[in-house]
Amino acid sequence: MSEKNIGMRVLERLKDEISELEYTRYIKQLEYSEEKSKKEYALFLAPNQLIANWVKTKYTKKIAHLFEISTGTHPEVVFEIKTNHKQLKKSPKKVPNEKTIHSLLNPSYTFDNFVEGGSNEFAVKASKSVSKKPGEVFNPLFIYGGVGLGKTHLMQAVGNVLQQNGKSVIYTSSEQFLNDFIRHLGNHNTMDRFKEKYRGCDALLIDDIQFLSGKNQIQEEFFHTFEELRNHGKQIIMTADKHPKQIAGLQERLKNRFEWGLVADIQPPELETKIAIIRKKCDINRVKLDNEVINYIATIIENNSREIEGILIKLNAYAQLMHADIGIEFARNVLKEQIQEKRANITLDLIITTVAKDLNVKASEICSKSRNRNIVYARRIAIYLARELTSNTITQLAQQFGMQDHTAVSHTMKKIAELIKDDEDFKLKIQELRNKITVGTH
Ligand code: ADP
Ligand code: MG
Repeated sequence: MSEKNIGMRVLERLKDEISELEYTRYIKQLEYSEEKSKKEYALFLAPNQLIANWVKTKYTKKIAHLFEISTGTHPEVVFEIKTNHKQLKKSPKKVPNEKTIHSLLNPSYTFDNFVEGGSNEFAVKASKSVSKKPGEVFNPLFIYGGVGLGKTHLMQAVGNVLQQNGKSVIYTSSEQFLNDFIRHLGNHNTMDRFKEKYRGCDALLIDDIQFLSGKNQIQEEFFHTFEELRNHGKQIIMTADKHPKQIAGLQERLKNRFEWGLVADIQPPELETKIAIIRKKCDINRVKLDNEVINYIATIIENNSREIEGILIKLNAYAQLMHADIGIEFARNVLKEQIQEKRANITLDLIITTVAKDLNVKASEICSKSRNRNIVYARRIAIYLARELTSNTITQLAQQFGMQDHTAVSHTMKKIAELIKDDEDFKLKIQELRNKITVGTH
């Protein structure tokens, strides 16, 4: 079989491993881009964002494995959207070179496609400033927040602007950065190339930097890359799940430097923002939903916008299969399991025990009527998180936490929200607890 068909051949092998429906609906829609694939990269083109995301999450590992067993190579499997590829082809200036292929920015991750709201306002403003004056205003820019809140999207939005302005941009996850480093380790010639590559760009975008925690050798390398870029006025943008201060196992000098520019957080979106994000995703993916269904989806997704695309795919797939329109009843039925699964994962018990352990009080005390200061503090936090992370109503929470009535719960919610707004350390504490509770349950 010729080189040309390697990618397609690999895809065909998937036929035996997955259902015919999935194969036809998703895998068959892919094309292997011979032109843009290299030894290190296998690039597949998808007709739209939905399919790209779906195969990326579900099949990247499988496809990589099939490459390994069919060809003995270990390319990184990546996906792009076809229409943009065609546009790229049309304009000769933008034919991808070594540098742009490394960046692999998602072309739909733009500022236009990003919904602004109170929860991300600061991060968006900072990102826009950086896109206008890279290397000048906030360097580095550090964006942090929970899973699916739009960190990668926002970082790439800056990257897309910079790339359009002719800058060379490298986008990489810190995991890829580490793998790349290991690949070149022990070989002076190629190690120089590795250094040139990362130190020679105009902007370096590194995603999920917390992944480097505890890995000293790569932190050392990244430190020098960072210094070199920053000294030459090149822009660095990083994301992480936590504030740099809170990333354990990260060298102090890196923590310090990460705060030199600007640290911006993204908070979970408010309901209106969630609704606007769903609308946006419907527009981009040409899925038609009425307001009732959109509102319904907004109430069932917790805080992770990544779920939205999964839901849209699911609704669309069922609608096609059943030849039905997507009305509210239909949506409720299709998404029923999803909701039960999720709600079942985060229990009041889990919240209470996590908070109690963290704040050194007894779980039983949290639900008691004790007025001890520490216990009241822990109780308030547990109530706040329970309201946010479970489907309990305010009245149910009042009962569970031994409070007089629902106004006491509302009062607590207000108090904690105020504290979060005014006290940075408290906000971090709540975030940390939320992470502890939700980790592994999504
Ligand atoms: P993170 O990197 O924080 O885990 P992503 O950037 O991968 O999150 O976002 C997950 C998905 O949610 C992406 O499809 C992204 O486009 C979408 N998303 C998140 N926040 C927004 C937003 N404010 N506006 C539009 N889309 C968003
Ligand atoms: Mg991300």
